[in-house]
Amino acid sequence: MVDTVSALRLSELAPRVLQSEIRAMSVACDAMGGVNLAQGVCDTEVPAVVAEGAQKAIRDGLNIYTRLDGIARLRTAIAAQVARTHGIEVDPEREVLITSGATGAFQAASLALLNPGDEVLVFEPFYGYHLNMLKGMRVVPVPVALVAPAWELDLEAVRAAITPKTRAVVVNTPSNPSGKIFTRKELEGLAAVAVEFDLFVFTDEIYEHFVYGGAKHVSPMELPGMRERTILMSGFSKTFSVTGWRIGYLIADAKWVGSIGYFHDLTYVCAPAPLQHGVADGVEQLPPSYYTGLAQDHEAKRTMLVDALRDAGMNPHVPDGAYYILADASSLQGANAAEKARTLLRETGVGSVAGSAFFRPGGGEDLLRFCFAKKDADLADACRRLRGRA
Ligand code: PLP
Repeated sequence: MVDTVSALRLSELAPRVLQSEIRAMSVACDAMGGVNLAQGVCDTEVPAVVAEGAQKAIRDGLNIYTRLDGIARLRTAIAAQVARTHGIEVDPEREVLITSGATGAFQAASLALLNPGDEVLVFEPFYGYHLNMLKGMRVVPVPVALVAPAWELDLEAVRAAITPKTRAVVVNTPSNPSGKIFTRKELEGLAAVAVEFDLFVFTDEIYEHFVYGGAKHVSPMELPGMRERTILMSGFSKTFSVTGWRIGYLIADAKWVGSIGYFHDLTYVCAPAPLQHGVADGVEQLPPSYYTGLAQDHEAKRTMLVDALRDAGMNPHVPDGAYYILADASSLQGANAAEKARTLLRETGVGSVAGSAFFRPGGGEDLLRFCFAKKDADLADACRRLRGRA
């Protein structure tokens, strides 16, 4: 008899990777015309030099593929910036890769350095893309809880999570969603563990310039013994408010960058050519005051939203960096964080993300995440709406 069961089906992985809760909430918020503090899309202005640089590059015909590792001018400008801000010397010809955002950097690095079945430590609360990207490659993410309320690193928990299959640890500093900045002391402890167990450290530093209240951003790559094992990923989505441009970068030892670039080429070929030129203009020409101004502006926005959440009875964790706030949602109706987020949307028109998106099942159910990288007028509107429920 002919077998009538169709062979057309989703892959083994497809059902396990769900639509991000962040996108779902953004859709619900837009549908009701609310103020969307759910998604980390910055509404702030693109620096003129960056926007004009990209437009000029298009007009000048710089629209074809670039070298797979990106244009030399941008790689050189990034290497100079990293030397200036972190004291890390990198070879722009062999150790810098321009990527399709920090996301493309993480994907390509994971393909080049990890095998199916490998285990990778991810700090919780985590950024969902890190976890799901690893799962998508059949790598096993192993969450290690940071200790609330200050989200401190627990080195004993790190050690306890390590098995013979552990290959890497993912650091995100400043962190989404907690706003945690790993201190130098914490990173030194983590570096010692990485050296002891011979682990890669993937470090996502996309919020490196969003640092508040005297906190200092330190990259694990700066620490002694860490140069060879650190894969530094960052980008311009947040710094230049160009999330849709898809321009990021990766810095690593030359012995890894060739293979990482190979995988990046297979998926993306190159980051968008004229946009690389616009970003290069920005990195070359914007003064240090641009970056300090960015931090100051966002610190003021942080204060606005922290105060409003307090007034609304939703005790916030005050972040040291990035541009998100995790706040207490226990006063909202709902059986879980997703329901509480929808209650808040219904009551106030303010979109947030369920804290459960950043924890293992059962965690984060009394937390909501709010993004404050918004135009002041929109943020003020959201703050007014939040206070309305008090
Ligand atoms: N990494 C973290 C921690 C993020 O929060 C985000 C965006 O929200 C990204 C990476 C995405 O960066 P990119 O746009 O450069 O891919």
